[in-house]
Amino acid sequence: MLKTKKILFLYFILSLSIFSQIKLDESQLKSFLDNKEIIYEDICVQMGVANWNVYSQEETPDQDTPKGRYSILFSNDSLHQVINYWYPQRSNLRDKVLQRRVEVWYHILIGAKVDMEPEVFELENQLEEWLSGQVPKEEIPPTEELNNMVLHLMKLRNEKAQKLGYENYAVMMLELTELGNDWFMEQVDLILKRTKPQMDLIYDELRIQLKKETLTFFDLLGPIREYYFGSDTPITPKEDETMFELMKKILANIGINYEELPIRFVEREVPYGGNGLAISVPDDFRVIRNVGMPLSVWMHELGHGLQAMFTQIEYPILKGYEWCLGEGCPAFSEGMAETSARFSRNNEVIKSFSNLEDYNKDLVLNKYSALYLRFSLISALFEIEFYKDLSQNPGDLLNNLYEEILSIENPAGRDYNISENIIYVSYPVYLHNYLLADIISWQVHNSMEEKFGKNYPFNKETSSYLIDHFYRDGEFVTWREKLINGTGKALDIDGYLKSFGY
Ligand SMILES: [Zn+2]
Repeated sequence: MLKTKKILFLYFILSLSIFSQIKLDESQLKSFLDNKEIIYEDICVQMGVANWNVYSQEETPDQDTPKGRYSILFSNDSLHQVINYWYPQRSNLRDKVLQRRVEVWYHILIGAKVDMEPEVFELENQLEEWLSGQVPKEEIPPTEELNNMVLHLMKLRNEKAQKLGYENYAVMMLELTELGNDWFMEQVDLILKRTKPQMDLIYDELRIQLKKETLTFFDLLGPIREYYFGSDTPITPKEDETMFELMKKILANIGINYEELPIRFVEREVPYGGNGLAISVPDDFRVIRNVGMPLSVWMHELGHGLQAMFTQIEYPILKGYEWCLGEGCPAFSEGMAETSARFSRNNEVIKSFSNLEDYNKDLVLNKYSALYLRFSLISALFEIEFYKDLSQNPGDLLNNLYEEILSIENPAGRDYNISENIIYVSYPVYLHNYLLADIISWQVHNSMEEKFGKNYPFNKETSSYLIDHFYRDGEFVTWREKLINGTGKALDIDGYLKSFGY
């Protein structure tokens, strides 16, 4: 009897709280979310420090605590009630910022049902530690076991995404990062179609040059190296100069004083170029950078920093912390990083910083861009296709992609260790973002040239343009709106392909 009473009482309290939450008016909703976002930001900072420690090894990393706290925050019943109530009718809210906050919260709460489930993040954290390159080899399980664990992680993600009604986890990722699965696949088809004639030309030339009918992966290595080498900047520090000074000069030319930025670079041996982490937006940004990386890698990570350090929106959910799926569009963030890197590859900047008087990299780029684009598509599509059927052999899948997209065999044959690349664990379904980033940064630079002329990398107003259109508003403005506001156009893949001569 007593027990029943207690349950009834609890039920009463629960329904009372749900009832009162749902009835929140606009100003109550705002202060409710203000409170939740204070907690959210506190966890984001803790998560950032933990991730920083994984890569920098400055302190023992603890990712479990912040992920556990996210899990508690995102499973809060009243938060779900409020967001589910307001999301479908968010257009009735007078406050446009509040509308967007509800929208982003809604996306994050969906993402959390997969990524912030303890069985998912605990496995992810363990694998991340092992694959980060910071743990001695003898302390790590053998490759086959690691492969099975990564596969298990992917299966867990898929099961949970499917429970939420998505076809698979990759589709869910494309939807929640505000790209859209259908939209993205249309762009893939467009790129494949438009690059085909140039691809055929490259192959014809290679066959004649190499005097052979069937080309292999190794035959493509020369041209693809030429593309990457040609597309990167030839700028290197002069004798009495450091890479830092070079980067600062490029930045000063567009009107930004590096010394005033809350940023810290740390150099370490890591199995990738670099990783920039926004620990606290906008006032604490840190970069881990591999030893001896070229200027463009410095500029790329700096670009992530610029976006974070010039964000002026006060609401934490709109600051673009990157730890939760659904908080924004990573393709756009990579686009901002590449926008910064592209300054180091600009013909006028190269002429000014080197002795290459009549430098023009476009000739090499145009010649082999079809290869670059198709290689990028293989990287991007592998994971997207793998999530469609995780029982398939990843080596077979990769081989099929090589055959379909490049008409060659994968050099590794049918062996592919899925644990080879930490990205499948730490940044799942991410590689397509780099391809889109190249297009976004091309478009932004084009637009700056139209606005300020050929010498825009030496115009102090360039930074204001970037800040006003792309950095300042954070996630309040969606990436598609930002592109239209800043460049007058939606993502211009057609123009990008035309720039290569297609
Ligand atoms: Zn990046």
